[in-house]
Amino acid sequence: MLAASTLTLLPQHCKLCGTEYPAEPIAICSECLGPLEPTYPRDRVYPDRDDIERRAPSLWRYREWLPFDGEPVYSHDTGFTPLIEAPCLAAALGVGRAWVKNDAVAQPTLSFKDRVVASAINAAHALGLGVVGCASTGNLANAVAAHAARAGLPAWIFIPEDLEPAKVIGTAVYGANLVRVRGHYDDVNRLCVQLADRFGWGIVNVNLRGYYGEGSKTMAFEIAEQLGWRLPTAVVAPMAGGSLLTKLRKGFGEFLSAELVNGPAPKLFGAQASGCAPIVRLVESGAAKLTPEIPNTVARSIAIGNPADGPFAARAMVESGGWGAHVSDAEIVAGIRLLAETTGVFTETAGGTTVAAALKLAREGRLGQDDEVVVCITGNGLKTTDVVRDVLPEAPVVDAKVREVAALVAARPAPSAREAGFPGA
Ligand SMILES: *Cc1c(COP(=O)(O)O)cnc(C)c1O
Ligand SMILES: [Zn+2]
Repeated sequence: MLAASTLTLLPQHCKLCGTEYPAEPIAICSECLGPLEPTYPRDRVYPDRDDIERRAPSLWRYREWLPFDGEPVYSHDTGFTPLIEAPCLAAALGVGRAWVKNDAVAQPTLSFKDRVVASAINAAHALGLGVVGCASTGNLANAVAAHAARAGLPAWIFIPEDLEPAKVIGTAVYGANLVRVRGHYDDVNRLCVQLADRFGWGIVNVNLRGYYGEGSKTMAFEIAEQLGWRLPTAVVAPMAGGSLLTKLRKGFGEFLSAELVNGPAPKLFGAQASGCAPIVRLVESGAAKLTPEIPNTVARSIAIGNPADGPFAARAMVESGGWGAHVSDAEIVAGIRLLAETTGVFTETAGGTTVAAALKLAREGRLGQDDEVVVCITGNGLKTTDVVRDVLPEAPVVDAKVREVAALVAARPAPSAREAGFPGA
């Protein structure tokens, strides 16, 4: 265990009614059931570009925008993932320029959930919590288990019964207490709300949620810095609970307020699977209230039928001048292949959803030649190999003879994802 630190946590307030709360594990506002957010001190001194550039390449280089006072104790290696320009993807989309923000290589568990857990595990430490946990669609389970293992904290992790094997193994390997719950994510989440009260655990996306969510802003900060302190015209990101999309807006807004970048703020586009698209359908319908759905999609990591931040994400899309798109499971698989073939990045189903949604939005004319688009790739393809295995051509087996390879070279090459799945792309 580490020596006692001086890390302290900021208080919180309700995002809807403003009621103030001390730094404690609290799930929602007791007055209006609204979500909580950290309250940053008015006199906080923010760094300039040079200060930030001199710091280590992790999400802590933006620590003044995270909900702490003092030095972080855990997860020093999380964040500052690559932003790579993707000209072949830009051509396939028909946009001016495109980049991939590659959280498929986030440390230590290869998804953007390392960002939110880096914030939450330090919050748990500052609050002196002895046990952490989560309700997860897979990637959060991996991240909580790994970050807790490093911190020497026991973890209790709850997932829907039917998750992908790689996500189950990638949690259990860290020695976490892993529990598979019969039902969908929304059932798991409801259980965890009760467990947080019953056992006094720090459930990162329940009673530490206000602190957890802030970690997502760092993806926006990195995009701005890595583009050379500029903003793209558009950002496309996947949505599960809608937190990432909401926090991207907050993050870009905070860098604009700090005058680290100039406007306009990017248009934000949210991606969901057609088999679970309550936030996109809220945007499309313009309804006053979100209608929860029962998920049915291969994109399990983003299959949340009753998303906690759904209305905020919908507002972020519409008010930024963006929009939403939902795509079929077949389009998701084709999206995984298109990204791999155009950028060399192998993403999981959430990333396939995002790429396919970007393509759909471009075809609808919502993204075009004037756009500089960042596509947020939030998870790693090695965690969901099942969905692509059956659609990829089987590799031929030959004797170790030049003649046999020559016959293969002479034969027609197998169709690529671009030819097979995306005519005209
Ligand atoms: C959790 C998750 C998301 C979306 O998260 P929210 O903040 O809940 O919208 C996106 N991509 C991947 C891979 C995830 O695991
Ligand atoms: Zn409130």
